[in-house]
Amino acid sequence: MALDLVLLGPPGSGKGTQAAWLTEKYRIPAIATCDILRAQVEAGPPLGQRVRSYLERGELVPDQLVVDIIRHRLSEPDTEAGFILDGFPRTVPQAQALDAMLAELQRPLDAVLYLETDRQSLLDRLGQRHRGDDRADIADHRIDVFLDQTAPLIDYYRDEGKLRLIDGAQPPETVAAAIEEVIRPLVWASGGPNTRPTPS
Ligand code: AMP
Repeated sequence: MALDLVLLGPPGSGKGTQAAWLTEKYRIPAIATCDILRAQVEAGPPLGQRVRSYLERGELVPDQLVVDIIRHRLSEPDTEAGFILDGFPRTVPQAQALDAMLAELQRPLDAVLYLETDRQSLLDRLGQRHRGDDRADIADHRIDVFLDQTAPLIDYYRDEGKLRLIDGAQPPETVAAAIEEVIRPLVWASGGPNTRPTPS
């Protein structure tokens, strides 16, 4: 059995940090679409150039491109014990494609952790980073893109009964503890080998 998670949240909500900690703790890969897309940019034209133009503007790349990336990535053997998706899905069509993929593999998502974070905390955090698309005006636009295109996933996953709300404005260690509370019962249910507490 596997532990299959999605981290959902606006840019700056701490998805990357939490994904890295979860990987370390549960030994399942974190899959960040932004890292895969950046690698494509590095690989150069023609695809890299196209991807770069979206990233630089803080716009979402087309659904089909990221869906293909994720389909390919989820077919790799290291995802057998589970995965943490960071930055995917980001639109309703992406979520529908993911559901279809996972239905085919007969492994539905265990939970979608939504790191709910207010706009000012996001801008403060993004302002401390030094990525090109964290520039104030683009960061602000990326938050709008989240509200417009990704926030509908909150209801989508609530309707599926998968949504778990986490207060993402807290310090990262506090967020990690809140996530731990939510996923501990899931790890039990999935029979995770490294995480089962010893009986007292
Ligand atoms: P992130 O670091 O996750 O905020 O992603 C950085 C940028 O990568 C975004 O602003 C988008 O341009 C692109 N991106 C990452 N994930 C996706 C996705 N699932 N769908 C479309 N674009 C994405």
